[in-house]
Order: sequence, then C-alpha cells, then structure tokens
Amino acid sequence: MMLKGKTALVTGSTSGIGLGIATALAQQGANILLNGFGDIESPKAQIAKLGVQVDYHGADLSQPAQIADMMAFAAQRFGRVDILVNNAGIQCVANIEDFPPEKWDAIIAINLSSAFHTVRLALPAMRAAQWGRIINTASAHGLVASAQKVAYVAAKHGIVGLTKTVALETATTGITCNAICPGWVLTPLVQKQIDDRAARESIPVEKARSDLLGEKQPSGQFVTIEQLGGLAVFLCSPAADQVRGAAWQMDGGWTAQ
Ligand code: NAD
Repeated sequence: MMLKGKTALVTGSTSGIGLGIATALAQQGANILLNGFGDIESPKAQIAKLGVQVDYHGADLSQPAQIADMMAFAAQRFGRVDILVNNAGIQCVANIEDFPPEKWDAIIAINLSSAFHTVRLALPAMRAAQWGRIINTASAHGLVASAQKVAYVAAKHGIVGLTKTVALETATTGITCNAICPGWVLTPLVQKQIDDRAARESIPVEKARSDLLGEKQPSGQFVTIEQLGGLAVFLCSPAADQVRGAAWQMDGGWTAQ
C-alpha cells in the first residue's frame, strides 16, 4: 500500500488505459478522482471495492474553465492532487487534406492543451507538499509518426515536449514528470480503428486486428492496461525518484525499429 493517503486524479479514466492506471494506483492505496464520459457507476464501483475513496468529476477537457473547476473540486474533496495522470485522449484518422479542422482543434485541446492546464493548476500544491508525480499518457506516436494521424502525432509529440519542460522546472524538487508511450492497447479507441479497417478492406475483424498489430508491433501482442498500470505504479515509487522527463516506451518493440 505504497500510495496510502495520496490522491490521484486520472483524466479519461472511465475506460481503457486510464481505468487500468486508476485501478493499479488504487491497489496501492491511493484515493482516486475519476474523469471521463460514458458509464460512471461501474468504474466507480470497481475502484471503491479496493477500499479507497473515489469520486468523479465530469469535466470536458476541451474546456479550460471546466478543467479549472475539476482541479478546484479535487482540492476541496481530497485536500490536494498528489498524483496527476493526464490520460484522456481521442483519435481521428484521415489524410491531412481531408482532416476536419474541428477535429484538429479538439485533438490538440484534449490530448495536449488539457495537460498544460491541469499541470499548471496542480503544481502549486505539489510544491507546497514537496512531493508529486505527473504522468502523461503519450504514445509510440509521441516518438514516431504514422500517416493519417496528423493531429494525434502532433499532440503526442507535444506532450513529450511538455513533459520534458515540466521535468526541468521541477528537477530540484520531489516532483517528477514523465510520459508513458504505449504501443497498441486493445481499448475502445483502438477497437474503432480495427472495425473501420475491417469495413474499409472488407475483411474479418480478426484479420484487421492481426494486420494492425503486425504492421507496427513486433511482439504481435497488445500491451495490456494492467502492464501500463504497473509502469505508473513504478513511476510513483521511490525507485523512480530520479526518473525525470522520460518518455518511456511500452510498445512491444514498435519504436525499436
Ligand atoms: P479510451 O477511448 O478507452 O479512453 C479515453 C478516455 O478519455 C475515456 O475515459 C473518455 O471518456 C475520455 N475522454 C475523451 N474525450 C474526453 C474529454 N473531452 N474530456 C474528458 N474525458 C474525455 O482510449 P484509451 O485507448 O484508453 O486512451 C487513453 C489514452 O491512451 C489516450 O491519451 C490515448 O491517446 C493513449 N494511447 C492509447 C493507445 C492504444 O493503443 N489504445 C496507445 C497509445 C496511447
């Protein structure tokens, strides 16, 4: 129970990787503030079963005023945010000439700018406590590009840069800031890309899934949300006190190529 008494805010934690990270942090005793859309009650119940305090704020992370409201709620409900996981993200797949400008704006706002706002609002209390952990869910696409993902790749490269800057600004403190860079993880965000591919190429979903993996991920296996949760727990541990500004791949070899 390494994180007993600490509070973690995990954005985009009603589903997928965020819920996996929130669960892993709660297993270490951290109280959890969930955020995201969709079904709220089952993620809340899943975390509450672990015997920690759990609450939810429904901020739309494309809206800076709602982010400010979420951060104020976290401080009022839990005292402060000790562990901030910037995880919410969306995707859109299209060539740049066909890429809807409003999708560009939404992806930059949700996948990148929201972390600027949460970090700037969380840091003063972390500095006062002389301890904090900031973990940004980037992607293999924070390190290398793929065609048809211009906004996502730009936002994920951006969040790796944000991570390094915050790590330098906090380098002499007990606050660390790191990014994690998953390869393919079988979440709703990726299932949609598999389904779209199957429809586009008129192939079975199973074939679309193995083609998607085979193209990029040498291991041929998905990264799991439990493995990413384990990495987040490590980054919160004393062993990671000097891990600062890292962009840590967990990608089945994707970016080793
Ligand atoms: P997901 O769709 O399962 O989860 C996304 C979460 O973000 C959900 O909780 C959703 O409600 C929330 N969200 C979306 N828009 C939001 C908004 N405007 N305000 C607040 N919350 C919002 O997807 P996932 O695969 O778990 O993705 C989580 C993160 O991991 C994303 O940043 C994604 O880019 C990144 N990532 C995913 C993969 C993968 O293969 N699945 C790989 C690398 C990185």
